[in-house]
Amino acid sequence: MDAIKHLQDAIRLATVSHSDPYETDWSVFREFGEFLTASYPLIHEKMELKLINDFALIYRWPGLSKEKPLMLTAHYDVVAATDEDWEYPPFSGHDDSERIWGRGTLDDKGSLIAIMEAANSLLEADYVPPYDIYFAFGFDEEVGGELGAKEMARYFLENGIHFRYILDEGGAVTDGKSLGVEPDLAVIGIAEKGNNSFRFLFRGDEGHSSMPPQSTAIGKMAAFIHDVERNPPKARMTDTLEATITALAPYKSGVEAFALRNPKLFSPLISKILLKNKQTAAMLRSTIAFTMTEAGTGHNVLPRTATCVANIRIVQGDTVAGIFDHLKSLGHEFEIADEIMVNEATAISDVNAEGMLHTKEIIARVFPDAVAMPYLMVGGTDSRFYDQVSDNVYRFLPNKLSGSELDTVHGRGEYISHENFFKMIEFYREFMFQLK
Ligand SMILES: [Zn+2]
Repeated sequence: MDAIKHLQDAIRLATVSHSDPYETDWSVFREFGEFLTASYPLIHEKMELKLINDFALIYRWPGLSKEKPLMLTAHYDVVAATDEDWEYPPFSGHDDSERIWGRGTLDDKGSLIAIMEAANSLLEADYVPPYDIYFAFGFDEEVGGELGAKEMARYFLENGIHFRYILDEGGAVTDGKSLGVEPDLAVIGIAEKGNNSFRFLFRGDEGHSSMPPQSTAIGKMAAFIHDVERNPPKARMTDTLEATITALAPYKSGVEAFALRNPKLFSPLISKILLKNKQTAAMLRSTIAFTMTEAGTGHNVLPRTATCVANIRIVQGDTVAGIFDHLKSLGHEFEIADEIMVNEATAISDVNAEGMLHTKEIIARVFPDAVAMPYLMVGGTDSRFYDQVSDNVYRFLPNKLSGSELDTVHGRGEYISHENFFKMIEFYREFMFQLK
């Protein structure tokens, strides 16, 4: 089967991206481009290919009209993996006749190959889309997308290419029981939190630890961390969360259904329930997580400085400046030593617009047992760069995944079942074929 072989070939190219571009083995990325050219000759004959920064791939499939185009995106870089604790090695692409194993099968080469397979089969059937369809394939999504998606977005902006909507990776189809509803849930990301990392610096007196001052640099930092963790940013019922909750209401009964149908009214009650679980709590407010600390050079030397890094995810309605106001209000003296990453929250895509309705319609065809609903993506995707070049951006990965399968993304033992892979191809084929 060609499709499976293509996915196996894609997995075997270890396109691991690193935050420091000098650590990345770019020859494998070049091979990946060559592999696509060799595997999909018809696509390369019928579509235009534009390379941005050598490795970001933009395909344009010319349509019948000059109406606003549509774009599907995916990325082909992956996070690192070692052989340890994998049933089959992460870059083997092993096919055990039910599953294809390897890093990237779910995140996100499976999607990229499925898009190519779908387009290839439509081209073989002489299908011409009603307007242009673009594919944009990033190569550094896992490390922030600065060289790939960000530059592709700039290219679209500079060339006046504006999309009616974009479909990127994102929410999957999962069992509804975790949210206490019977049907499967197909969750479509309509917004992303802003992902930020800052290094905070605290100063203290240098000297011998036998004559310490009342508080050292480390003590000041510890007090800060302690206070920040005890005073999280305030929870809010965002429009996105409201859209998710009202979409759930029809599958609940009694008092619960009534509360969910009126989320603003029952906001304190709903918030209280959602804040109990760390996954749902993250949808309700900005989060601040301390991820690194550094201080000291000797066991009996007072450090002059202490630093800590916080990863701050900003929810819609909050801003980076607002979070800093909150931090300052806690009354600690700190300096910002490094702005490692700064991103405000994305715009919220329209839940009633063409792209959402189309995505839902194709979900209903391919996953008839699932209820489609919007949600806030807590993680990040390349599409956060595309707000400026598209009316709307939706984030959905057409796979039915169990909780343990979701855990393999960026973890150990990532695989895609044949069933999911073929569903994904079917989804993208229908998605491009059923356009009006
Ligand atoms: Zn991804």
